[in-house]
Amino acid sequence: MGPSRNAPCWCGSGKKLKRCHLDRARLVRPAVRIGAVRPERAVPEGIARPHYVLDGTVWPPPEAQVLSGEALERMRHACRVAAEVLAETVAAVGVGVTTDELDAVAHEAYVTRGAYPSTLGYHDYPKSICTSVNEVLCHGIPDDRPLQDGDIVNVDVTAFVDGMHGDTSATVGVGTIAPELAVLIDTTRDATLAGIANIRPGEPMQRVAEAVTSVAKDRGYGVVSEYGGHGIGEVFHADPHIHHTITSRDRAVAVPGLCLTVEPMLRTGAPRFTTADDGWTEVLDDGMPSAQFEHTVVVTGTGAEILTVLADGTSAVSPAGSVHAPAG
Ligand SMILES: [Zn+2]
Repeated sequence: MGPSRNAPCWCGSGKKLKRCHLDRARLVRPAVRIGAVRPERAVPEGIARPHYVLDGTVWPPPEAQVLSGEALERMRHACRVAAEVLAETVAAVGVGVTTDELDAVAHEAYVTRGAYPSTLGYHDYPKSICTSVNEVLCHGIPDDRPLQDGDIVNVDVTAFVDGMHGDTSATVGVGTIAPELAVLIDTTRDATLAGIANIRPGEPMQRVAEAVTSVAKDRGYGVVSEYGGHGIGEVFHADPHIHHTITSRDRAVAVPGLCLTVEPMLRTGAPRFTTADDGWTEVLDDGMPSAQFEHTVVVTGTGAEILTVLADGTSAVSPAGSVHAPAG
């Protein structure tokens, strides 16, 4: 838990948090209307499908994905593709653009790289990305709602190519956003990178949660405990579950070669959320916004290396120069 909402704001204004950077009136956007969803987009026949698209089953979480050699090289490629798709998609975000148009941009970016959008047909999910706006916590389905000036939107991309899944997401502002929302976005990015930077081989995976919650707490934000990261590689969602909040139940240990996602969601309000009638969209009950970033990483001999980066080492998640977690 962060500081009380009655505590002085971290910014030094002398006002209480709830009257400053956690002021509901400054953070809340008009409630997101869930729009109409177009039929799913076709993927060319020549592109390999994940097994769940072919046989309709989703395997139970398998053993951790510990990769090396040729398998890790294929994983690097899938993650590079995911980073490229994310970069192209967030570049298309703008006032009046619908999230379905973002889905179209992403879809084209996947298939031109020979990749299958991992979410398309996963548990019957109908789209090639997730787009979560404002108080939508996660799993928003791209629809015909135009993005509005001042919104924030998380774009979540997963590419399946070379037999591997690469998973990454970023939250960006639409047009001009409130400074309080910009701080939420920046802090969530910082928390994600701090969680990754705190991974050490041989040490508990809880190092991620320790760093994430510390960064969030400094700004008075909560960290969502119901969703976490996951192992990833040949399977989309594998063991271990990566907690972003502190829990004594977490026994997972980082081992070199383990591929996993770090993807904390930070919220400005209360923790309760509800699944919309579409069966996917998770909406925070109090209407307060949340943000999320995500990278796929591999545990190394000294720390963790971010795999979801462009050829130059940057990504839509993090600006140049701050991408790689410091080793050791
Ligand atoms: Zn403040």
